[in-house]
Amino acid sequence: MDVRAEIDQLRRARNAVVLAHSYQPGEIQDIADFVGDSLELSRKAGDCEEEVVVFCGVHFMAETAHILSPGKTVLLPEPGAGCPLADTIDGSMLSSFKEHVDVEHAVIYINSPAEAKAESYACCTSANAVDVVRGVPAKRVVFAPDFNLGTFVARAVPEKEILVYRGACRPHAAAEIEDLRAKKVEWPDAEVLVHPETSPGMWEEADHVLGTGGMIDRVSRSSSRRFLIGTEAGMVYRLQTLFPDREFLAAGRIHCPNMKVITLEKVHRSLETLEPRVTLPDGIRARALAAVERMTSVG
Ligand code: 13P
Repeated sequence: MDVRAEIDQLRRARNAVVLAHSYQPGEIQDIADFVGDSLELSRKAGDCEEEVVVFCGVHFMAETAHILSPGKTVLLPEPGAGCPLADTIDGSMLSSFKEHVDVEHAVIYINSPAEAKAESYACCTSANAVDVVRGVPAKRVVFAPDFNLGTFVARAVPEKEILVYRGACRPHAAAEIEDLRAKKVEWPDAEVLVHPETSPGMWEEADHVLGTGGMIDRVSRSSSRRFLIGTEAGMVYRLQTLFPDREFLAAGRIHCPNMKVITLEKVHRSLETLEPRVTLPDGIRARALAAVERMTSVG
């Protein structure tokens, strides 16, 4: 039997849902029950009826699903799917940073380990970072760990003083402005959408700075026929699937190797063995939950 048919059979037998981020390889997006951005996937993992969540993404996403749904079995088909941005911080690094700048409340990007979420007032994704920061009951707020996203938030919320930690998503931060300019010459009529993890120089070249969910929303409302996409390349596949009558081109070489390590065979094996599972010690999970629930309740 074809591996896709076997996955279908197993997911029914296991009462499982397959969730995939929009950066996943096309063949994984195609078999997923739901494809979305970090915020939508967290909500879906929290709300779904199924007992097993197969998370096709990276570790912090599956960990967040476990924080929200400790009673479910959360599987990450490739346990080595990490996030170097998330690895730039942990609980004690965040505590030291807060102490150093003398700030009580931190907003932590979802691309972070649970230990850092446990030390934070609220968690956020790129879709709701601005609104989450606006809602913090303090004038001075730490934002961690992504420096570009924190800078974007600081510009959008001038009424607060945002102390930004210096982490970066390398593929996004290294996106070349010259590549984007060259693509704009190739497609002068295209609308340009870039992710806030890219550098401010990229934002200045763009029509809109949006998370991946915001990009889908923007395309659905836009009358443009062509779009240059400044985020991880998997998003071009996602948009092309959703909008076959429009054209999309990657605005630069933004490739996340960690988002490409899950294969159909690994999803199949996970469903068969119900491994590898993502879990956390109860204490950390409970302390991270308040911050994660503030995230899912905004936007
Ligand atoms: P989104 O929340 O926009 O999907 O972004 C996820 C991510 O990890 C960006 O690098």
